[in-house]
Amino acid sequence: MNSSRAAAVLNVVGGERLPGRATFEKVNPADGSLVALVHDAGPDVVDLAVSAARTALDGPWGAMPVNERAQVLRRIADKIDERADELAAAETADTGKPAALVRDLDVARAAQNFRAFADVIASAGQDSFLTDLAGGRKALNYAVRKPLGVVGVIVPWNLPILLLTWKLAPALGCGNTVVVKPSEETPSSATLLADILADAGVPDGVYNVVHGFGPGSAGEYLTTHPGIDGITFTGESSTGSAIMRAAADRVRPVSFELGGKNAAIVFADCDLEKTVDGLTRSIFLNTGQVCLCTERVYVERPIFDQVVTRLADRARQLRLGHPDGPETTTGPLISEQHRKKVLSYFDLAVSEGATVVTGGGVPTVDPGLDGGFWIEPTLWTGLGNSARVVREEVFGPVAALIPFDTEEEAIRLANDTEYGLAASVWTTDLARGHRMAQRMDVGMAWVNTWYLRDLRSPFGGAGLSGIGREGGHHSLQFYSELTNVCVQL
Ligand code: NAD
Repeated sequence: MNSSRAAAVLNVVGGERLPGRATFEKVNPADGSLVALVHDAGPDVVDLAVSAARTALDGPWGAMPVNERAQVLRRIADKIDERADELAAAETADTGKPAALVRDLDVARAAQNFRAFADVIASAGQDSFLTDLAGGRKALNYAVRKPLGVVGVIVPWNLPILLLTWKLAPALGCGNTVVVKPSEETPSSATLLADILADAGVPDGVYNVVHGFGPGSAGEYLTTHPGIDGITFTGESSTGSAIMRAAADRVRPVSFELGGKNAAIVFADCDLEKTVDGLTRSIFLNTGQVCLCTERVYVERPIFDQVVTRLADRARQLRLGHPDGPETTTGPLISEQHRKKVLSYFDLAVSEGATVVTGGGVPTVDPGLDGGFWIEPTLWTGLGNSARVVREEVFGPVAALIPFDTEEEAIRLANDTEYGLAASVWTTDLARGHRMAQRMDVGMAWVNTWYLRDLRSPFGGAGLSGIGREGGHHSLQFYSELTNVCVQL
C-alpha cells in the first residue's frame, strides 16, 4: 500500500481526534503490508488527555448512579456486537490472527467483559458493621465506594481488545475516567472503541486514547504524569517493574498482569485424547502468544513417548495461513522483532541440548504471505528445568516436554519458576486433580481444561506474573477507593 494513502490512526482526547508529533507505520504481521500510519502522542497530547479525563471525572460520569452506569456498560456490549465485523477486521489487520479466532475469542469476550462487569457493579455491596461500645451503646460503620480517579490503562498486543475491555469495563463501571495506551503494535481496535463508547452514551473525556511506545514515549509520559491516580497494566514483567518505579514517586496504586512460564502436569491416568486436545490448544492458541499458554509440559514417564508423538502430530496438523482462510488455525507472530526473539530461543534450545521434535524454524507459507512474521510450531525434549528456554518466557508456539515419576517431583518441577500465572493438571483421578491444583503456586490452576474463564473469578499472577487480582468484585477493589463512615448511635 502507498503510505500516503494509508489509514490514519489518531489519538482520542476529550472526544476529539488529535494528531501526534509524528507518525509511525503499523504493518500487518500476516504479510508485512502497511495497515495504518499511527499518530505518536507527544507529552503535550498525553497532558491534554489526562486533563480531559480529570475534567470528565468531575462531570456527570462520576456522579451517575451505579444502575445507570451498568446500563451504559450493557449498551456498550450491544454496540460491540453490532459492530463486531468492523472491530474484528481492525483486530485481524493489526495482529494477522485467524479471523475466526478474533471473532469468537477477542471480540466476543470484549462484549462479555462489559456485560459481566455491568452485573458486578449493579450487585456490589459494601461492608457494614454494627460495633458494640461500652455501656451498651453502638456505632454503625459502613464503607462508601468512590472512583479511584483518572486511571492509566496500558495494554499489550496479544489480545488487544479483550485485554483492554477486561480493564476498561470495571474501571468505567466504578465511575473512573481513563487514558488508554494501547500497544504500538495494535492501535486500531482501541481507537474504534471510542466511537462505540460515544454511541453508547459515554460522555466525552471519559475514554481517551494516546498512541506511542514505552520509554521516552506515550507509555512513560502517562505513567509519570502527576494527574494519574492509578495504573492498570498488562504486559511483560520487566515493563511492570519500570512502571512500578514510575508509580512509586507519587505512591500510586498499580494492578499488574504480567508474563508467565506456565506448566501443564500430565498423569498417566489422563484421558489421552482429551489431554492432547487441551495441550494443543494451550501451547499453540494465538501462536503461543497468550500469557496463559503452556510452555512446560511435565508428563508421567509411562506415557511420555506417546504424548510427545501425539502432540507433535497435532503441531504438524496446524494450518498456518491467510487470516480469512477457512482452514487456517494459526497466525504469525506479531512482529519481525518478536520473531527474532523467538528464533533466538530456538537457537538457544539447541545449544542447551534440546532435541527438536518438530518445528524449530521459519516455515514456507502461501504465496503473498512471505512478508509476514511466520514461525513453526515447535516442541523440544531433552531439556531440564535449569535450561534457560525452560525458565524464560518465549511467548511463541513452543513447549518443552519433560518426564516425571512422582506427584512430588511434578509439583517441585512445576513450581520451580519465578513466574506464577497459570497451570493445568490432566488426570482422571479428581482427588489428585484438586490436590495438585491447590499446591500450584499460581493465580489460576485448571484441571482437565485450560483458559476456561468465569469472569467473576479472580484472575492474576504471583511472583513475576503480577500484583493483585482482577475479575468480579476483585476488580472493584482496585478501581475504587473506599471511605469508611463511622456514626456513633
Ligand atoms: P510490553 O510490556 O512490551 O508492552 C505492553 C505495553 O506497555 C505496551 O502498550 C507498551 O507500549 C507499553 N510499555 C512498554 N514499556 C513501557 C514503559 N517503560 N512505560 C510505560 N509503558 C510501557 O508487553 P507486550 O510485548 O506488548 O506483551 C507481551 C507480554 O504481555 C508477555 O510477557 C505476556 O505474558 C504479557 N501478558 C500478560 C497477561 C496477563 O494477564 N498476565 C496477558 C497478556 C499478556
